[in-house]
Amino acid sequence: MTNNALFYLTNNDMPVVSHANGIYIWDTQGHRYIDGCSGAITCNIGHNHPTVIQAMSEQLNKIAFSYRTQFESQVAIDLADQLVNITEGDLDKVFFVGSGSEAVESAIKLAVQYFVASSQPKRSKFVSLSPSYHGSTLGALGLTGYEPLEAPYRSISISSIKVPSPDLYRYKEANIEEHITTVLKQTENAILTAGADTIAGIVLEPVGGASTGGRMVTKRYMEGLRALCDRYGCLLIMDEVLSGMGRTGKWFAYQHFGIAPDILTLAKGLGSGYYPIAAMMARKELVDVVDLSGGFMHGHTYAGNPLACATGLAVIDVMNTEQLISNSSKQGTYLHQQLELLALKHNCIGDIRGIGLLQGLELVQNKITKEPYPPSFNAFEKITTLAKKRGLLIYPRRCLNGLAGDHVLITPPLTVTSEDIDEIISLLDESFTAFEQ
Ligand code: PMP
Repeated sequence: MTNNALFYLTNNDMPVVSHANGIYIWDTQGHRYIDGCSGAITCNIGHNHPTVIQAMSEQLNKIAFSYRTQFESQVAIDLADQLVNITEGDLDKVFFVGSGSEAVESAIKLAVQYFVASSQPKRSKFVSLSPSYHGSTLGALGLTGYEPLEAPYRSISISSIKVPSPDLYRYKEANIEEHITTVLKQTENAILTAGADTIAGIVLEPVGGASTGGRMVTKRYMEGLRALCDRYGCLLIMDEVLSGMGRTGKWFAYQHFGIAPDILTLAKGLGSGYYPIAAMMARKELVDVVDLSGGFMHGHTYAGNPLACATGLAVIDVMNTEQLISNSSKQGTYLHQQLELLALKHNCIGDIRGIGLLQGLELVQNKITKEPYPPSFNAFEKITTLAKKRGLLIYPRRCLNGLAGDHVLITPPLTVTSEDIDEIISLLDESFTAFEQ
């Protein structure tokens, strides 16, 4: 397929998709691919699930779209209740949108409107991590710690204050505790330098996704960030667009750390690829303050439409019925172990990290020194192409800051079995052998 009218990148090797089932996708040439990354870490319950198809078609036969300022919709009310249920904390208000970026924009706007409404209008700056990814719209991009994406728009976006993300791989042999103390101190210094009373929030992905290849943080780090927010009166905002909805073996990744955010964003796994739906959740007291001063001034036409909400409800139903949270935890542990064994066989695999079925590999040219491949080597692209040729899809990203290596995410649907994982590992093994030749 060349010279077509699509604006985004296509190349001569791009297969044309035909159909899918479970963890498999077929192209029009009849090649089968294992979806080892759930598309863009999105198709959490696998492809073509009959329960979702039926719920969507029932909803389509009733009404696909009604506008939220004209009608309430029972499916939106029910889905909001379910989300409040599974977050198990103080996040008792839900605002639906259509994408992860929109959810992050909504979080930024709610935080700023909250401080304006509570007579603290100076609080409009955000602290976020580098590397990180928070979306493609200008606000979300301003939070994103990925220089080449963000820099061109710095003068017209909110451009947050960037602080280093913990790097547990490179500080493994050194003292991790000392490293965590250092990054927390750097974060506090950044807050104080900007003026503590100007900071609206600290934004982070509790487990790194596309930007860091599954980088983990520690409980003490999370507690430290929570304490900084409490000390300086700013909000803790967790971006779980990628890590939420069971991906890490709990409904949300923050639930591994025993602390709770003030605002949460979720997206990909909520619609699981069937329909775009995302949400921003917040503590009621924040929303109450904004409501009292005239309501949340923000919205998107398709936000929370009945078809989107019926899809989200059906996805949660499948997650519960098929016990996909516990499968994510169980198979995630198995996948992690098998990736550790694979790393013993291949010198280019520097680190295996992640939790549940959010697993990442960092590629290095020297395992001892942890030296990354040079950016021009395109290690991330090479290994992804080799895997795709063998019928395995994985999610690649180039090294972001010149310090860490390129990485790939292995994030199959949460329905994956141990046998599927064995097949994924064997295809990865062949791909890494070819990569090292
Ligand atoms: N936040 C995170 C953590 C993400 O991973 C992404 C998407 N990769 C986004 C925000 C943006 O989501 P979307 O592409 O749906 O706008």
